[in-house]
Amino acid sequence: MTIANTAPQSLRIVVIGAGMAGILAAIRLREAGKHQVVVYEKADRVGGTWRENTYPGLACDVPAHAYTYSFAPNAEWSSYLAPGPEIQRYFEAVAQQYALDKVIQFGQEVVRCELKDGRWELETASGLIDHADVVIAATGVLHHPSMPDLPGLDRFTGPSFHSAQWDHSVALDGKRIGIIGSGSTGVQIVSALAGRASKLIHIQRTPQWIMPVPNTPYSEEQKAAFRADPALIDDIRYAEAYTSAVNRFTEAIIDQDSPQIREIEDICRQNLEGSVKDPVLREKLRPNYRAACKRLIYSSDYYEKVQRPDVAVAIGPIQHIEPEGVRMADGTLQEVDVLVLATGFHADRFVRPMRVIGRNGTDLDARWSPAPSAYLGITVPGLPNFFMLNGPTGPVGNFSLIDIAERQWNYIEHLLADIEAGKCRQVDLKEDAMQAYDHRRIAAARKTIFGSGCSSWYLDATGVPVSWPWSYDAFAEQTAAPKNEDYEYIA
Ligand code: NAP
Repeated sequence: MTIANTAPQSLRIVVIGAGMAGILAAIRLREAGKHQVVVYEKADRVGGTWRENTYPGLACDVPAHAYTYSFAPNAEWSSYLAPGPEIQRYFEAVAQQYALDKVIQFGQEVVRCELKDGRWELETASGLIDHADVVIAATGVLHHPSMPDLPGLDRFTGPSFHSAQWDHSVALDGKRIGIIGSGSTGVQIVSALAGRASKLIHIQRTPQWIMPVPNTPYSEEQKAAFRADPALIDDIRYAEAYTSAVNRFTEAIIDQDSPQIREIEDICRQNLEGSVKDPVLREKLRPNYRAACKRLIYSSDYYEKVQRPDVAVAIGPIQHIEPEGVRMADGTLQEVDVLVLATGFHADRFVRPMRVIGRNGTDLDARWSPAPSAYLGITVPGLPNFFMLNGPTGPVGNFSLIDIAERQWNYIEHLLADIEAGKCRQVDLKEDAMQAYDHRRIAAARKTIFGSGCSSWYLDATGVPVSWPWSYDAFAEQTAAPKNEDYEYIA
């Protein structure tokens, strides 16, 4: 239904979060120049996950020139895969370049978002109350550390901390260090600390498949060439070799029976068998599930590092933690001075613990029980003018989340344009559009490699993989523009 001229001339738009996606939204809104924009950020700096994670070895496994805003190329990336601190500096520099300090309010954690009389009322932890016509929830995915429920953890005598809460006051050199967890984080930490610790013990409940991906530094000549001719950056960002590799990877993960997944399995198996010489260690490190069922780990040197004499692996469940170290279920005690918990995140939280109450009492917490979902990772019925970036079901293969967020933002802009044009005051996703999406999504998700029989943070509470189960092209096509029939236009 089209209703003429019901929208305010200028919308008040609140962006929640100043990580990668919030920075993107704030820049695009400010460039459009039509609206009042405010960004609430709980911390004292921009950067999101790259601000929170400071562990040794932190890096992004998406090529740096692809993990970059399309409008802010960066000639200075030091290597093909950028280290975490460099990525954090990039986001800080972009935020500064676009003068986002004028719109970001730091130290403001939004705790409640409630639709009242057609507008959103927001409340922050410090008691600030604000009102908005539109809310952009750019709150990230992996930012609530999952602390392992290990008996005795509080009795460990040395320092112990989660990987996302790294205690930089703790000396590491020459210490015996235990790392619990073998996800991307644990593997990166092991690679970085091998050689610094007197003894490094990688404690793995479940070993992982490792994909060997080399990381080549960019020379000063290459960086100078990028500065002189940014088109060279595009050549990397949109390189046929890169996009076809990621497309092949996506085809592999969305079809458990595809030749592409067999290819990945072969590469990982050859990596293990060709890299690990000791047959006992090799079999210990061999996972008993299919490659890429858990998020595939990229590392060029992990197997080399775990074969060092000062590095050991302890594989199997943990019985409990003792003051001196980790008692494994097989009875062995792994004595350590420092214990790092690379045990992942509560990946199902998304915008929560923020309380979100929408139309007719729609409560996001209830709506997302037992498992979260959002149409194209963006909208949820009952929450009009509440748009998410990188919300549930959004991540596409191993494509750059920046690219995904930019596509989602373009989609949101279409909806904002309808409101600006006076077609309505609010847009609300229709329930039947959501149901049809979930019906198709869940059926497809079960066929992805993530549903092939392992545990991982990709699975929701009902055991369904919560990632985008189709191709990148399908995501690009479906986010190109909203279908009007999917939305209710509210006067
Ligand atoms: P994760 O993949 O969820 O891995 C958590 C690890 O902790 C698993 O090995 C898990 O074992 C183990 N664990 C959890 N509770 C345990 C317990 N009670 N006892 C023993 N082991 C326990 O977490 P993550 O490594 O932090 O990575 C999360 C995601 O962050 C990645 O998948 C990726 O998307 C992102 N990330 C990306 C990069 C990058 O380079 N782009 C780097 C780091 C992280 P089980 O497998 O047995 O459950």
